[in-house]
Amino acid sequence: MSTYHNFIDGKWTLSRSGTVFENRNPADRDDLIGVFQQSSPADAEEALAAAARAYRSWRLVPAPKRAEVLFRAAQIIEQRKEAFARDMTREMGKVLEETRGDVQEAVDMTYFMAGEGRRQYGQTVPSELRDKFAMSVRQPLGVCSVITPWNFPMAIPSWKIVPALVCGNTVVFKPATLTPLSAVNFVKVLEEAGVPPGVVNLVTGGPDVGTRLSTHDEVRVVSFTGSTSVGRTVNQNAASGCKKVHLEMGGKNVIMLMEDADLDLAVDGCVWGGFGTSGQRCTAASRVVVHERIYDAFLEAFSARVRSLRVGNGAESGVDMGPSVSEAQRNTVQEYVRIGTHEGATLVTGGRALTTGAWARGWFHEPTIFGDVHPRMRIAQEEIFGPVVSVIRCRSLDEAIAIGNDVPYGLSASIYTRDINKAFTAMRDLYTGIFYVNAPTIGAEVHLPFGGTKTTGNGHREAGTAALDVFSEWKSIYLDFSGRLQRAQIDT
Ligand code: NAD
Repeated sequence: MSTYHNFIDGKWTLSRSGTVFENRNPADRDDLIGVFQQSSPADAEEALAAAARAYRSWRLVPAPKRAEVLFRAAQIIEQRKEAFARDMTREMGKVLEETRGDVQEAVDMTYFMAGEGRRQYGQTVPSELRDKFAMSVRQPLGVCSVITPWNFPMAIPSWKIVPALVCGNTVVFKPATLTPLSAVNFVKVLEEAGVPPGVVNLVTGGPDVGTRLSTHDEVRVVSFTGSTSVGRTVNQNAASGCKKVHLEMGGKNVIMLMEDADLDLAVDGCVWGGFGTSGQRCTAASRVVVHERIYDAFLEAFSARVRSLRVGNGAESGVDMGPSVSEAQRNTVQEYVRIGTHEGATLVTGGRALTTGAWARGWFHEPTIFGDVHPRMRIAQEEIFGPVVSVIRCRSLDEAIAIGNDVPYGLSASIYTRDINKAFTAMRDLYTGIFYVNAPTIGAEVHLPFGGTKTTGNGHREAGTAALDVFSEWKSIYLDFSGRLQRAQIDT
């Protein structure tokens, strides 16, 4: 059995706590992947001190040189894509095709951000005074805490760590306890690519480590992706230190199907959007709002397709949907099936935990559809994070938009229609951070901003050049070459 370590100041080390936690395959709980350090706040402090020391020199490395290290990292991830994808399927369950996509996202993000090493443009503007020069430059902030969830175990860390590095910051990274192996794989690549000691540190462990990373004086940025409830706590913990807090949290995303939609295309989109990653995506299409004229035809075609999905170990070929990530997550799914039934929604298909045969070894659940869902039911309002889709009837585009917006979250939305007027109206009126036309709610690309409104986020975005705004601050610089005192706003 393998024992994995923390990475602090360029060395792979044991936790001071002397304790470890197990990482098991959610498709087969007899499969023990390894044990990882159950770190203590003291380990986090050691990592933060190393990051603070390393910042003194890393911030002075020219950005194009920092980028060269990242280009090498992208190449290494690309070379190991298949092995990393297999490790990821083993530790969190999504099918291989999807874990390959997750690793590819890290490759794309790392190349993209390495390119930013030669950009990071500022402004030069005319001064209002003679013989004076005015410009703005991006500057790094210092030590960044990176706290991530388990559902995109390599993509999400890359979205945070790589832009932080190219801007000249240093990082302490705490991954989710369910996916520490993908974190180790990613950090090993950065080490091999030549990231200097202390610039990236990895500390595995739970909420006490996360709390220290959100509160410590040394930390200037906390970049968090996870649930809204934990995100709120992180925000509160970081507030008194006036830290920059970047939050990416829950979602309750909607696909709207208008009466003129291409039905086959829409069914494809709803199956992929609703049941990809077993519904465990922040952008999962957990609500489908359907025009009453096509409601019956859609529900029949959608449920037929969903009944034919093959559920199993994501490492096996031919499997469409893997397990829930853990027993707790499957229990949550079961609880929402009870809630939906109790609320009076119609259970169209699924609804049961899969506990027979090979399924008995993991946390499998049937893909589940509820019909006749009222938009205010809990199953249509709360994030379930499992293979459960609520189908809601509507009578018009206006009603679909109103239902779409009537949730506490605002991450992603989509519309299927052949009417350009409807598409543009919905594109304008859905208050989300991401919007799709004739495609499901998932499928973001790394060079555009990613994030959400309302309780999904706090106004920041990751990915694209927007990520540079999280990991840098503006400095405005004035150079006076007149040789005399010139007073802005006075000597006009
Ligand atoms: P989670 O909130 O339980 O955990 C996220 C991370 O926070 C983990 O590393 C966890 O150990 C850590 N943590 C827990 N308590 C903490 C504390 N008190 N202080 C600091 N850190 C703490 O989320 P999860 O179950 O890992 O992931 C699922 C959630 O993530 C869903 O709600 C999903 O919507 C969300 N998510 C959002 C996005 C997005 O971009 N908006 C992307 C992926 C996942």
